[in-house]
Amino acid sequence: MTAIQNVCEKIENIVGTRYVSDSDPIRYSYSMNCDFVLQSMPDIVVKPRTSEEISGILKIANEHKIKVIPRGNGADLTGGSKPIGDGGIVLDVTRMDKILDVDEENRIVTLEVGISWSELLEQLSRVGIGYYTGTTGPASGFSATIGGGLSNNSVGGGGAAMYGAVTEQCVGLEVVLPQGDIIYTGAKANSFCEKAFTRFGLGPDYSGLFLGDVGIHGVKTKASLNLFPLPEYRGYGTYEIDNKDLNLATQKVADVMINWQQKKLPLHDFFYYTDGRGFTKDLLNAEIKGGVLLYTTVADTQKQLDINIERIDKIAEDAQFKKLGDTLEEGNLGKWFYEEDGKWQWANHSWLGGNYFNLSGCMKCPTSELPEYRKLFNEWNMKNFPKIRELDAIGGAGFIAFGVAPTYIDVAGGLGIRGDIKHREAFGEIWKDLLITLIKKGSIHYWMGEIIGKSLVDSGALTEEYYNFMITIKKALDPNKILSPGKFYLGDNF
Ligand SMILES: Cc1cc2nc3c(=O)[nH]c(=O)nc-3n(C[C@H](O)[C@H](O)[C@H](O)COP(=O)(O)OP(=O)(O)OC[C@H]3O[C@@H](n4cnc5c(N)ncnc54)[C@H](O)[C@@H]3O)c2cc1C
Repeated sequence: MTAIQNVCEKIENIVGTRYVSDSDPIRYSYSMNCDFVLQSMPDIVVKPRTSEEISGILKIANEHKIKVIPRGNGADLTGGSKPIGDGGIVLDVTRMDKILDVDEENRIVTLEVGISWSELLEQLSRVGIGYYTGTTGPASGFSATIGGGLSNNSVGGGGAAMYGAVTEQCVGLEVVLPQGDIIYTGAKANSFCEKAFTRFGLGPDYSGLFLGDVGIHGVKTKASLNLFPLPEYRGYGTYEIDNKDLNLATQKVADVMINWQQKKLPLHDFFYYTDGRGFTKDLLNAEIKGGVLLYTTVADTQKQLDINIERIDKIAEDAQFKKLGDTLEEGNLGKWFYEEDGKWQWANHSWLGGNYFNLSGCMKCPTSELPEYRKLFNEWNMKNFPKIRELDAIGGAGFIAFGVAPTYIDVAGGLGIRGDIKHREAFGEIWKDLLITLIKKGSIHYWMGEIIGKSLVDSGALTEEYYNFMITIKKALDPNKILSPGKFYLGDNF
């Protein structure tokens, strides 16, 4: 019996034969995330049902010094939920998909992290007066899990302009540490406290150690999130932006966004597409020539909603933006975004069009820097165009910006490539060049995966002291380098 077969058998004793596999087709199907570029083959795939099973698997992994990579629904765009280099165990948590408690009085939901955003929100909408989580995960929320969102610090699936990134709404976690211990963070770290309700209060913010950690510090198994009643009144607007002079257009859009954010207007979402043609034509069958800026707003009464809309529109109209009609056919992408689940579709259009994938540079920046980043994406694209053409890639794919509470934006742009195995290495290099260019301008990425975490180190962005601090924490938690090794080169460098 090989060492891997031995490990597989021990894991089988924990989860049962049905939920562990070392077969080639299963390993292959877990060797990639959504991108065409980064692939590595695990040895074993396992689908545990409980935190205790995960604890047992991690103990076996430590004993045999075999790496473990936590995985939600594998919608990561940067190689986060597959091994870096071949081998190891991919730990798929999607069987842990139950809502455990909806505390309507205190407005907290506690759940197993393998549930998807769409399933969670669907179920919450049917409880009591109808609830949701405020910010509703990433744009991949039809499949992506809460655990993936909390690990990637996700934002983008709607509600972000009002409620921020999903990590902002987390009030506590259950985590299985790399050596198998199970802990709660937040209020429930007090073992006499039954209900999760605040992240803070028992010393340092240890939830923060695991939020956005891309699975290097522990396996999240349960989470408690704030709950909000579904808004009774909703309004939407979409403006057409003259983009003949794109520098001027982007500056004007940034000024409007800053004004909205400074005045703290109740914007639930706002999105800007420099080129709205594809979106409106493909998705709404409407003919919009320029860029588009959409917003959604919510209220408790019709009167309040009317006031919101008037104040939001006034700022955009002062900038001479032309408001489109209310219906989808007239181009009201705002309505589509909210009512037709466009919040979970806009990115499919941007990242996974036809037979191409977008090498992504999705990042956060201060709202005032929107024009500079648009220019940077454009200049990078022009500079690299000859190389891109040679590789039969598609070139710069769209540019999008959206609001995140309290006062910044998320910006996304990139390079469309075809699923061409021959050019993988060259695509990887060119992708990294884009990422390092952005990082050197001061951009803040959130999904790290394989490629962004490594680019952060390679670019020299992290000071020696900061990186040593990361190593110290990683060593303390995971001395055998079991969990997600290779991210940020951790596990290679100590
Ligand atoms: C079309 C499309 C649109 C997207 N839009 C967005 C967007 O708007 N915003 C955004 O942020 N991202 C977006 N993404 C990227 C990605 O889908 C999200 O970041 C999402 O949150 C990942 O969730 P997942 O369940 O698929 O996680 P996975 O891809 O399975 O994992 C993501 C990372 O988290 C770690 N991880 C997963 N579960 C756990 C756990 N339980 N414990 C510890 N670590 C864990 C993994 O190791 C990996 O590093 C998009 C992707 C696609 C394909």
